[in-house]
Amino acid sequence: MQTIRKRVSILFVICSISSILLITLFVNITIKNKFNQYMEDIQNKRYERIVSYFEEIYKTEGSWTKNSGIELVHEAYMNNYCITLFDSNENFIWGMNPNDIINNAYLNTMIIEPYGNFISKRFEINNNGYVVGYVDIGQYNPILLTEEDVNFQKSINESIILSGAVTLIIVIGISLYFSKQFSKPIREVANMSVNLSKGNFDIKPAAASNIIELEHLRKSVNVLSEKLNHQDTLRRALVADISHEIRSPLNVLQNNLEAMIDGFFPVTTEKLNYLNEEVIRFSRLLNNLDALKEFESESIKLNFETIELDELLYEIYKDFNISAGNKDIKLNYHVNGDEEFSIIGDGDKLKQVFINLISNAIKFTEAGGKVDINLFSNTKNIMVEVKDNGIGIRKEDLPFIFERLYRGDKSRHQSEGNGIGLTIVKNILQLHYANIDVESEEGEGTAFKVSFNKRGIGI
Ligand code: ADP
Repeated sequence: MQTIRKRVSILFVICSISSILLITLFVNITIKNKFNQYMEDIQNKRYERIVSYFEEIYKTEGSWTKNSGIELVHEAYMNNYCITLFDSNENFIWGMNPNDIINNAYLNTMIIEPYGNFISKRFEINNNGYVVGYVDIGQYNPILLTEEDVNFQKSINESIILSGAVTLIIVIGISLYFSKQFSKPIREVANMSVNLSKGNFDIKPAAASNIIELEHLRKSVNVLSEKLNHQDTLRRALVADISHEIRSPLNVLQNNLEAMIDGFFPVTTEKLNYLNEEVIRFSRLLNNLDALKEFESESIKLNFETIELDELLYEIYKDFNISAGNKDIKLNYHVNGDEEFSIIGDGDKLKQVFINLISNAIKFTEAGGKVDINLFSNTKNIMVEVKDNGIGIRKEDLPFIFERLYRGDKSRHQSEGNGIGLTIVKNILQLHYANIDVESEEGEGTAFKVSFNKRGIGI
């Protein structure tokens, strides 16, 4: 196993070494070819010069002697090649011994490879259009190089190797720097997920990265940790709330029953009714939890039929009118009687939705306030708005009100409730592919708006 940083750095270095080697190879081959070409041209010119020198000699002397062109021998030794002169019948006139080149190497400015093959080329010597002789020019290396030529080639290779080494050092530096940009955010995100898997949800979010994929990963792990943290808080609140909700009616029952048994309280119908209300409150909580469990386990069965929303709302409005009146709250129902408001849905479940919304509106509105139920439509949707001018919802509570057992600031209202109503509303509406939005201003009021698709469910 390796760290990302090490792996990326190794990759960088391997890539750069390969490219440096390839560049070195190509540059070397190209330079060598060009250089050899150049040296070959020089060599050919030398051949031409030697041949035309012998032609000039023949022109002036008219025949070959043992001394014709012998002055070239010194130059030939110096430059490491061997000359042999023949007449037109290819009879030997004079010539140098190839071994002498090696023996006299100290005279040379050329580099000789002593064990190379001796190669010789024959050239014609012409006079007035006739071949008057032949000259053999031989050498041990295909191309003769001076020490300077070889040094030139060497220095090019050295500078390529030097620039390769410098490039490598720069590449290693750059790769270490850039690989850190990958490894750091990944390491942070990995640490976050290890913490999350250990149940440590309250962790510092990872720092931003400028690599798109890593930034996506970082953001999603941050969101995940926030959600898990929030769920964890909710879970703790849920346990605390449920035990509180269960304990208070049980305490009331226990204290009262003990007082009755001990004879402190008379057993009156009024007292028994009061205790019964506590039992009803208790069973309401259990019913709500049951309903929630049903939705969350997705075992709920819906009974879809055509629902006339205006009629359904009117019935609920009638049921709530009395309790709203008792609290001195004006409950209004507005609907355009000429329009049709039929949708496909489960009547009982939808009734539950509006009961929860309207009972909340009444619960969180003080005496003298008002609650409006508005039913209207546009081309696409049928909308139901439940609007009150009650205590409103705090900005910081708004994102959570649909969560299980979330109850807004309890110090602001002592009204009963267990934070399940809106979760059930949301779940039922989801099954009807309907949306719910909320707008609220603290101290001004709240409006919940439910939108059903006019064309039907899921379209
Ligand atoms: P509860 O049983 O507490 O009413 P809900 O899920 O119905 O539970 O509502 C969750 C929270 O949302 C409430 O505790 C309250 O803080 C807030 N809320 C819901 N409806 C209203 C409203 N009409 N006005 C003010 N606050 C509201």
